Amino acid sequence: MIDLHSHSNISDGLLSPAELVAHAASHGVRMLALTDHDDIDGLAEARLAAKVHGIQLVNGVEISVTWKKRTLHIVGLNIAPENEALKNALSTVKHGRLERAKLMALGLEKAGIHGSFEAAAANAAQSILTRMHFARFLVERRYAKDTKSVFKKYLVKGKPGFVDHQWMSLEAAVSLIVNSGGEAVLAHPGRYDIRRTNMLLLLEEFRALGGAAIEVVTGSHTPPQFIEYAKYAQLFGLRASQGSDYHGKGISFMEMGRLPALPSNCVPVWQNWPQMSEMLVKA
Ligand code: AMP
Ligand code: MN
Ligand code: MN
Ligand code: MN
Repeated sequence: MIDLHSHSNISDGLLSPAELVAHAASHGVRMLALTDHDDIDGLAEARLAAKVHGIQLVNGVEISVTWKKRTLHIVGLNIAPENEALKNALSTVKHGRLERAKLMALGLEKAGIHGSFEAAAANAAQSILTRMHFARFLVERRYAKDTKSVFKKYLVKGKPGFVDHQWMSLEAAVSLIVNSGGEAVLAHPGRYDIRRTNMLLLLEEFRALGGAAIEVVTGSHTPPQFIEYAKYAQLFGLRASQGSDYHGKGISFMEMGRLPALPSNCVPVWQNWPQMSEMLVKA
């Protein structure tokens, strides 16, 4: 009933912010964070819809970060959407994504695939440009059978459509989130290609920078990883978050409203949130 990671078509999800909130409500979610990639433009619409459906909306964002040459995702929860520094930084990222998309299209062009920039941009409409928008075009053109195989063939490191993009630093992302009144959460740690030594370094650094929590239960983790990352959270005194990472039917890692409970040794990230008492009052 608490889902703190989801995407609308403001980034690479399929549903509009209002549709996403309605979907969440109809699947039993009582508290939802909208966490679009590098964009907070969907929050106002989601907030209105949340009022209509009687669910708690948490203002969120999922910021792309480069750490030791790897791309990581940092979720910000309870950020202030009107915060100028945050808005400015995200608009810089949006511009960077546009430049990256042009380079991706160039790479695909060299592999004999034409018109991908225009198609991805059309798929993205008003939203930011992500690899997912290229993936949809490539699947439509039958370059691969589904999103998963299209990523493998064209959009990951070493493939024609991949561009080694420089995202924000971990420090910048955490401080933007914290300075806008939010809490920083390391998204799906089990998805990164990081061995234990580096994971320990990352968590140490993340906590020292002011990070609050790590995702323990997520659509990207297996049940053994729930246990593994609950231990990491405990080890570092970090709280634990949970979220489906829902993107829409067919491309989501998990349907909404089906998250298992956090392991019992976790301190939930929402423990002291004012939204919790509001939700319980309504229940
Ligand atoms: P971007 O932030 O533009 O690099 O796009 C990354 C997005 O593409 C992620 O948020 C996922 O939603 C999606 N994605 C990344 N890797 C894969 C994959 N192997 N299969 C399916 N979707 C993926
Ligand atoms: Mn995504
Ligand atoms: Mn992510
Ligand atoms: Mn996500």
